[in-house]
Amino acid sequence: MNQNMVFVWLNFAFLAPLIVKGQKSGIECVDIVFVLQTSCDLDPALVQGVQTSFIGKVAKQMSTNKNSTMTLITYDDIAQVQISALSPGAFLEQLGDGFKGGDNCPRATKAITAGALTLVDFKNYFSEDRGKIVVVLSDGISFDKKSNMDITLERTKTAIRNLQNKGINFATFEFYEEDPDDDRIGNLEYEEYNPIIKMNTGDDFTQTFIDSVTENTRSLDCGHKIPEIVCREPILDIIYVIDRSNSIDSSDIARVKTFLQDLTAQILKTSKETWIAAISYNSDVYVEVPLTGEGAIRDASGIIKKLGEIITETALGTYTDKAINYAYSKHAFRSEANRWVILITDGVTKHAPYTNGKKSFSHLTVHEAKWLRERDIDLLILGLPNMKAKKILDNPESSETEINRAMNKVKAGRKEWEDMIWARYPENFEEKKKTNLFTLESMDEMRTKFNDILTSVCV
Ligand SMILES: [Mg+2]
Repeated sequence: MNQNMVFVWLNFAFLAPLIVKGQKSGIECVDIVFVLQTSCDLDPALVQGVQTSFIGKVAKQMSTNKNSTMTLITYDDIAQVQISALSPGAFLEQLGDGFKGGDNCPRATKAITAGALTLVDFKNYFSEDRGKIVVVLSDGISFDKKSNMDITLERTKTAIRNLQNKGINFATFEFYEEDPDDDRIGNLEYEEYNPIIKMNTGDDFTQTFIDSVTENTRSLDCGHKIPEIVCREPILDIIYVIDRSNSIDSSDIARVKTFLQDLTAQILKTSKETWIAAISYNSDVYVEVPLTGEGAIRDASGIIKKLGEIITETALGTYTDKAINYAYSKHAFRSEANRWVILITDGVTKHAPYTNGKKSFSHLTVHEAKWLRERDIDLLILGLPNMKAKKILDNPESSETEINRAMNKVKAGRKEWEDMIWARYPENFEEKKKTNLFTLESMDEMRTKFNDILTSVCV
C-alpha cells in the first residue's frame, strides 16, 4: 500500500462506524470560554506558551467551524475579557501571539478565580442549543490574601456551582506543581470542577481536548438549526487631543506618544474601519492628523509615523476648552461610528494673561465637555502630572507655602478631570470616573478598555 492508500484506509476504518451509527466525527457546536490565570506568581513563559500551544491550537483545529464561539478571559486580582465570543477562525486571528499577563507585577499576585467565573456567568457567553464549556487554566489556588484562603476557596466553589447549575461543563488545565514547602490548598479546587478532561503542561492535549468536547456535545443536534454566526467589530472615530502647554513635562508627552502609537496599532488591527485623528494644543490648536479630507491617514503605520512626528516642545497657555471645542465642532464624525475624544492633559486650563495664578478657567473646559454629551461623543481622559507642582513636591527645600500651593494645583487638576467626566456622564458619574479616567501609571488599562470596546458583536 502506498501512503495515500494507508491514509484513505485509516480514515475509512475510523470514520465508518461513526457514519453507520449516524454520529458526528468532530465538534459541531460549542461555546468555549477559556479562563486563564495571569497573576505574577506564574512564569510568564508558561502563561504565554499555553495561549499559543494549547488555546491557539484548539482554535486552529476548529477554525472552519462556524457554529461555535470562543472567548478568552484573563485574571489576576481582576478579570478582563480579552476576546469575546468570536468564531474560532476570528478568535485565532485576534489571539495572535497571545496576551501578556502580569502587567501590574509585582502588585497583581492575587488570583481571584471566583471573580473570573462570576464574569463568565454575568456575560453569559452560552447559547441554549450549543455545548457549554469553560476551560479553567490555573494553578488551582484562588488567592486573595494569605489569611483569607478558606473564604476565597468557598467563593470559588460557589461560582463553580452557579455555572454548573446552568448546564455548563468544565475542563481544567493545571499549572499546579507540588512543592513540599508550600502550605497552599493544592488540589482541592481542581476537584470542584468535576472536569470533562484534566490537562496539564506535560503533554500536547489539543486532540484529547477536541475529542472530549466532541464526546460531551455528541447528543446535540445543532448543526442544522443554528444560523452561521456573523461577527462585526464596532467602528470608531477617535480624536487624540494632546496638551502641549508648558506645565507638561516633554518627556511625559514622549511617553504618551509611544503609548498612542501602540494603542493605534492595537485598535486598527481589530477594527480596520476605525478612523483616527490627532490634535495638540497650548494657546493654539494644531492639527497633527486630520480625521477626514486632505492628509487623513487610514493605515496604522502612517498614523503611527505621524504621531511620532508630533513635537514634544511645549508653550504658554492651556486652552483645553478651545481644543475640546475644536475636537467636536471641526471633525466630520461618521454617523455609524462610535465617537471618542481621548484627552491628554494635566487638567489645569489656563488662559492669557497668565499673571493671576489663582484664577481658575476649569469651568470653561467643563462646559465644553457638556457638548460632547450633546453630540454623543465619548470622553476618555489620560491625566498627566503637572510638572511645576511635581518639581515643588519632589524638592526637599520647598517651603510649606509652596507645597500647599502645589498640592492645590494637583487637586485642581484632578477636579477638572472629574468635573469633565461628570459633565459628560452625569447619570453614571461614579462608574465612569473609574472606567474613563486614567493616569500615566494606569494607562495600560486603557488598552484593555479598548479591547472591550472593540469586542465583536456577534449575531
Ligand atoms: Mg498647562
